[in-house]
Amino acid sequence: MEVSNRVSRLKPSATLAAAAKAKALKEQGVDVLSLTLGEPDFATPKNIQQAAIASIEDGRASYYTPVAGIPALIDSIVKRTEIDYGITYKSNEVMVGTGAKFILYALFQTILNPGDEVIIPIPYWVSYDAQVELAEGKSVFVEGHQDNGFKVTVEDLEKATTDKTKAFILNSPCNPTGAIYTADELEKIGNWAVKHNILIVADDIYGKLVYNGNVFTPIATLSEEIKNQTLVINGVSKSYAMTGWRIGYALGDKQIISQMTKIASQATSNPTAVSQYAALEALSGDQAEVEKMRQVFEERLNHFYQRISDLPGFKLDKPQGAFYLYPDISECLVNCGYDNVTNWVNDLLEEAHVAVVTGEGFGTDRHIRLSYATDLETLDKSVDQIAMFIEKKAKK
Ligand code: PMP
Ligand code: GLU
Repeated sequence: MEVSNRVSRLKPSATLAAAAKAKALKEQGVDVLSLTLGEPDFATPKNIQQAAIASIEDGRASYYTPVAGIPALIDSIVKRTEIDYGITYKSNEVMVGTGAKFILYALFQTILNPGDEVIIPIPYWVSYDAQVELAEGKSVFVEGHQDNGFKVTVEDLEKATTDKTKAFILNSPCNPTGAIYTADELEKIGNWAVKHNILIVADDIYGKLVYNGNVFTPIATLSEEIKNQTLVINGVSKSYAMTGWRIGYALGDKQIISQMTKIASQATSNPTAVSQYAALEALSGDQAEVEKMRQVFEERLNHFYQRISDLPGFKLDKPQGAFYLYPDISECLVNCGYDNVTNWVNDLLEEAHVAVVTGEGFGTDRHIRLSYATDLETLDKSVDQIAMFIEKKAKK
């Protein structure tokens, strides 16, 4: 049967595809080192696991829940946001969904009419563009300044603004660069959005994964006007090691939230009940594990960044948050005799058994993304194998 034009145009997620390719090779018996997925390697903390088990055993997890999430979880999201960032939302300004990914999907379906534009800074997380296209919107890419962590300025945004601009996606700390916008940069961007009535989609999912004394400022904390112009996206996947549970949430304008909830009512009914009870414990229980995991990521970053920076032809600034490195390898490509980064990535996997993600998935043609959400031994072995691969190619 012929499939729809919509799905024919759709690209599969580059991160998930790279991870699947590495896994398939592993299953054939190849010893692959995978630095593909942005997924903590830790097990979900014990208190969270136990809360989930209890909800199964006492029967709470057996049933449908309200579409936007169980009231106790919504309350815990409101409280956590107040404690962590000092901003207050009402319960009808919150929606829980099947991962931040589905929350974003519901948002674009809610706000976009055909041809409406969404400004997306390059490099961008692989699903933003695809989801905007699925909603028949138009992605307008703005390349930030590589010498300033690829961050975009109000001047860049002004140039990209038209009367069709509906939203701007802000991802700080950023996947893939790890860059964080300063409060000053954010205030200017926030005021630009208020001036043009453009919705700021603030993907704050890496907000707790910030290292070496850097500070994350949520844009919604900067003024009441900016808060009202912002739809915050967050979730438990990254900071609580809960990727498999699929719980994300949105905070913002109650009209948008109620329309996103209507989409979920027709698409998913509700986020999985057991996962909601787990997320409730994550957000309202002891937070010590979050800090412990953050410290481990920080140690990995400091070690891995140094080793990757030492590779010939690799250039990068030190990331401030998230768990990725995004080196510019253009010089290495030339030294190795490649004119295409994806071919280099494919050969690295085939010949050196190290899996990384091509920058092409994130909108640039000279970078690779390496996730350091894995143990130090794997990171070290990967660097050794990448170094050998480069040396072999450069000799040819
Ligand atoms: N936003 C960004 C920037 C991400 O990297 C991810 C990772 N998958 C998500 C949103 C979605 O997270 P999840 O669906 O696991 O909540
Ligand atoms: N966000 C993670 C990543 O970028 C998980 C995979 C995905 O959802 O794209 O690798």
